[in-house]
Amino acid sequence: MSQQSASHWDVFVLEYARAKDQPIASLINGTHDQGVMDTPFSFVFARSGDRNVLVDTGFMREGLGEEMSVRFGVPDWISPLRLLEELGVKPEDITDIFLSHAHFDHMGSVHKFPSARLYIQKRELLSWHEMLTLPKQFDYLTAIINPDDMRAMFTASIDHRVTLLDGDRENALPGLHARLGPGHTMGQQFIVLETARGPMVVAGDCIYSRVNLTGHNHDGCYVPLNNTVGSVYDQLMTMDRIKTAVDGDLDRVIILHDIDRWKNFELVKEIDGFRIVRAA
Ligand SMILES: [Zn+2]
Repeated sequence: MSQQSASHWDVFVLEYARAKDQPIASLINGTHDQGVMDTPFSFVFARSGDRNVLVDTGFMREGLGEEMSVRFGVPDWISPLRLLEELGVKPEDITDIFLSHAHFDHMGSVHKFPSARLYIQKRELLSWHEMLTLPKQFDYLTAIINPDDMRAMFTASIDHRVTLLDGDRENALPGLHARLGPGHTMGQQFIVLETARGPMVVAGDCIYSRVNLTGHNHDGCYVPLNNTVGSVYDQLMTMDRIKTAVDGDLDRVIILHDIDRWKNFELVKEIDGFRIVRAA
């Protein structure tokens, strides 16, 4: 089988939480006059053959996860496991999890999937370990990291269930490509899935809105995020790589915090006000 013979992935976006009244300017540069919004949180389930894959996991409202959801103003939540159940998927069915980055809202349920192999960029995991060792005056850097998630990753590492990716990995699974996309965090990655619609990108937190790619007033100039620990330069280079990966077709970019709540995708189910949509 050649490297080019891509599997086609079925792709679902699962909305599992919403932050209330978040100032848009805390997320997107140049929006100081645009007020507040309710920011949705989501993760992706993708299936191809006998592979049941997650891109990110959401978080559980347990222990520090509960504490952080209060601190960051995320009152609306449904268990990511409940959403998967709606699709007939049990935690032990998940074979692989690609983590875009280590923020608690993306990696916070990682300990609930005992059979899964975990893929994260080496720079992402190790840079957080390094930043956690810094003195207290640097706590801003790690404010969105749940130490319990780092402990879960350490345990999974000892169990030989973690793959550290060192940059781009084409066909990490057949038809699934991991691409380094730093900026929001030091070792962020975005995922390209070959689908019946063509290549689709799960953008992690590389972008929060199409505005990041289209520019303010569609001027075509990439717009950086305001909630990052990496550089503006890296962010914009990552945005360009995402746009290139979908040949400029933004309907093939899955934005996990999409303020339009994935209106371009087919609604599969709505459970207690949370959407499951089919992207491909
Ligand atoms: Zn993040």
